[in-house]
Amino acid sequence: MATRKEIDALRRALRERGLRATPSRLAVLGLLRRHGGPLSHAEAADRLHDLGWDRATIYRNLIDLSEAGLARRSDVGDHTWRFEAVDVAHADDRHAHFVCTGCGTVACLPDVDLAVGKAAPRAVKQKQVEVQVRGLCDGCEP
Ligand SMILES: [Zn+2]
Ligand SMILES: [Zn+2]
Repeated sequence: MATRKEIDALRRALRERGLRATPSRLAVLGLLRRHGGPLSHAEAADRLHDLGWDRATIYRNLIDLSEAGLARRSDVGDHTWRFEAVDVAHADDRHAHFVCTGCGTVACLPDVDLAVGKAAPRAVKQKQVEVQVRGLCDGCEP
């Protein structure tokens, strides 16, 4: 469980973005920050199930956090939205993701950088693109 200090930081982050710090929002934002990578709604709901939040509430909170800029929503190509906490101080830091072709797990790859050549489209230079690396995760490797 989160410490008092962590909860205060979550509360502050929500209020700075104009969101009320409701218990379910604190739980959802806390989960995303602790997890440190993208989670689907189903994964988030599974993990918060024991705290008694229903799936609809968690979904609404994920959307609220995305709209407020505290989370980023992405689709890695399987038509499932995944949500990850945004480091507000580095909100434009877009990084690559590893997608497991076996189980669909998505992990952040913050250290992978694009070597951009002259011919690259502007969108690549400005990092307005999704970079994905696909393969098998440790658990799925034969
Ligand atoms: Zn896997
Ligand atoms: Zn990420």
